[in-house]
Amino acid sequence: MDLALAGKTVVVTGASSGVGLATAKALLAEGAHVAACARDKTRLAAALATLPKTDKARVFTAACDVLDADAVASFVDTAAADLGGIDGVVNNAGRSLLARIEETSDAQWRAELELKIFSVLHVVRAAEHHLRRSTAPAVVNVNAILSRQPESKLAATSAARAALLNLSKTLAAELAPCGIRVNSVCLGLVDTGQWRRRYEDSDTNLTWDDWTAELARDRGIPLGRLGTADEVAFPILALLSPRASYITGSAIDVGGGVARYV
Ligand code: NDP
Repeated sequence: MDLALAGKTVVVTGASSGVGLATAKALLAEGAHVAACARDKTRLAAALATLPKTDKARVFTAACDVLDADAVASFVDTAAADLGGIDGVVNNAGRSLLARIEETSDAQWRAELELKIFSVLHVVRAAEHHLRRSTAPAVVNVNAILSRQPESKLAATSAARAALLNLSKTLAAELAPCGIRVNSVCLGLVDTGQWRRRYEDSDTNLTWDDWTAELARDRGIPLGRLGTADEVAFPILALLSPRASYITGSAIDVGGGVARYV
């Protein structure tokens, strides 16, 4: 089925690596235009330059910290002017904090909550007036299964993810009257920069494949492996697609079956 994304313009935050880069790649392959940001512009430009794209698909890149509201507004407005409007937003930029309650300082709690909430609010606020002009506007928030299934070793991240899932519902209700759909994808463990860094920082003698297989066993992932960023990009594009016109306020788990809730 044609996802009907050709010619649409989509903002992707955190597009230099992992899920954001795979989403940008998939959008370009569909013939969509991509407005991409990350804090390190050199890495972003280098990553996006490697992506194959159709002749018509265009890319706009900017260095932008999603926690800086002014920088986000400038990025979004400039991208809209350059690419001719905005039809979709993928709020993906972020990271997690591997720490239990007793290991997490007040400053880290605040930083996690600030990142998960404002990385989305700043972009939605900046993009809303552009999205209102689109014929099929959609927002996808990249979240985690942790939002509904907290883990003690990711205490602050789990709580902040729950807050974002809650906020996503409110945004879906608030923006529905102007036709803007808001949905979430909730990730389990996905093979990206985050996990590669943890592997490199560990003192394991295991190969990457054996280390991730052990991780999958330890976390009880029924499919027995980590997901790939490409496997996350597909549901993101499906939710962005005008074909998903009656889906809003929903959350799709992408976790190889790791979620235990019904
Ligand atoms: P990566 O570390 O591979 O990529 C993160 C991207 O976000 C990079 O492009 C990074 O670039 C950018 N970024 C980080 N902070 C900011 C910021 N403040 N402003 C703008 N850009 C920023 O991560 P993943 O692909 O693994 O993760 C993508 C999303 O999925 C994140 O929100 C993550 O928390 C979530 N997630 C991932 C899981 C996983 O297993 N991988 C599991 C659950 C959720 P730069 O550093 O240059 O800014």
